[in-house]
Amino acid sequence: CRDLTRVYRMGDNEVHALQGVSTDIAEGDYVAIMGPSGSGKSTFMNMIGALDRPTSGTLEIDGERLDNMKPDQLAAFRGRRVGFVFQQFNLLPRTSAVENAGLPLIYAGIEAAERKARAEARLKQVGLGERMDHQPSQLSGGQQQRVAIARALVNDPAILLADEPTGALDSQTSEEILDIFDQLNREGMTIILVTHEAEVAEHAKRQIVFRDGEIVEDRS
Ligand code: ATP
Ligand code: MG
Repeated sequence: CRDLTRVYRMGDNEVHALQGVSTDIAEGDYVAIMGPSGSGKSTFMNMIGALDRPTSGTLEIDGERLDNMKPDQLAAFRGRRVGFVFQQFNLLPRTSAVENAGLPLIYAGIEAAERKARAEARLKQVGLGERMDHQPSQLSGGQQQRVAIARALVNDPAILLADEPTGALDSQTSEEILDIFDQLNREGMTIILVTHEAEVAEHAKRQIVFRDGEIVEDRS
């Protein structure tokens, strides 16, 4: 990305959430985004995850320009190229693990048998092979986050994005979730995660620190 900005307009007020962010993230990298509350971390992730569009600047992923995509192109890109994991898991209630993990494939138009097979393979990969039919309310927080990771991986994304993925978990469960991220990165997955915690950021190969919508530190 180059000179990425995002201005939120609220009535007569403007919030300059990103104020000219430029960086390159290589394929296979493992990046932790840090910085105080309100510094623009989630705003930045939402741009990369094609959930939102920048106000100005350029953003390119795998040779595709996201900054000038129309909303439907952005949605298609999101379904094809990125997996997103959230702090609060965001699973559908009263829906089994295997159905939750397969959701992105519905939007991609994949038929039911293949959806199930691919969701099962990803649930096994994150260590949930024995919990396929459990609903979110029947799973622990760490298990729910594993379902969310399986869902994020089910469309074979180019990048795995995670905004505070361990924020709702105790420290031991956090380590188990981070072990999964570490393993995925060793297998070649590009990972960008947001965290407030230094111990979590240590797992990444590179730490980028935001302050007031700008990158103020970048260390490997
Ligand atoms: P936290 O660590 O608390 O999650 P953050 O670094 O992720 O913080 P952002 O969510 O990116 O911060 O917010 C950056 C700034 O933009 C904040 O001042 C926030 O209030 C503002 N902001 C974020 N989303 C919106 C929105 N949808 N509309 C208006 N302002 C917003
Ligand atoms: Mg945030």
